[in-house]
Amino acid sequence: MIGSLLADGIGDTIRFSLTADPVEEARAGRVLLESFGLRERKNVDLIACPSCGRAEIDVIEVASRARDALADEQLPLQVAVMGCVVNGPGEARDADLGIAAGRRRGHLFVKGQNVAVVPEDEMVPTLVDWARFIAEHGAEAALARADTEVARREAEKDRAELLEIQGDDANASEQRVELISQRFD
Ligand code: SF4
Repeated sequence: MIGSLLADGIGDTIRFSLTADPVEEARAGRVLLESFGLRERKNVDLIACPSCGRAEIDVIEVASRARDALADEQLPLQVAVMGCVVNGPGEARDADLGIAAGRRRGHLFVKGQNVAVVPEDEMVPTLVDWARFIAEHGAEAALARADTEVARREAEKDRAELLEIQGDDANASEQRVELISQRFD
C-alpha cells in the first residue's frame, strides 16, 4: 500500500514501524525508497527466494548471513540468495549477482549467467567477494573474468541430478490440490 503511494509520488516522508531495533526501521525505510528508485541506491538490495520443496539450504539462514556480511559494504547492487540451482538463476536473472544452492555447492551467477561453483560453506564469502568486484569493475568485467562455460556445465549437472532426485513436482502440488479438493467436496 505505502509502496504504491510512493510510486505515485504521494508523500514527502515515511516512517517505518517495526517491532525491532530502530536501526532496522531506518534500514527498512531506506530499502523501500531505493527499491522504488526514489533514493539513489548506495547499499545492497538483498533479495531471497521464498523457498519451497526444492530448497537445498535454509534460505532464511543463508540470506540473513549474507545480509549481515554485506550490511556495511555500501555496494549499490541487487544480490540474490536462491534455494536451488534448478530455478534460482532463472528466477533471479535480473539481479546483478546471486547464488543458488545445489548438491552441497553454491552456484554463483551474474545477470543470470553462471560464473563460478564453490562449496556450500563458502557461498556467503564468495558472494561478498564478487559483489565487491562488480561494484568496482562492473558486471561485464565479472563475466569476462569467469569461466562461464565450466560454471554453466557444473550448474547443469547439479540441476539434472536434483531433477532426477526430486522429480518434476518437488512441492507435491498435485497431491495438495487433490487434498484441498477433497476437503471442499
Ligand atoms: S524453486 Fe528453488 S529458487 Fe525457486 S523458490 Fe523453490 S527453492 Fe527457491
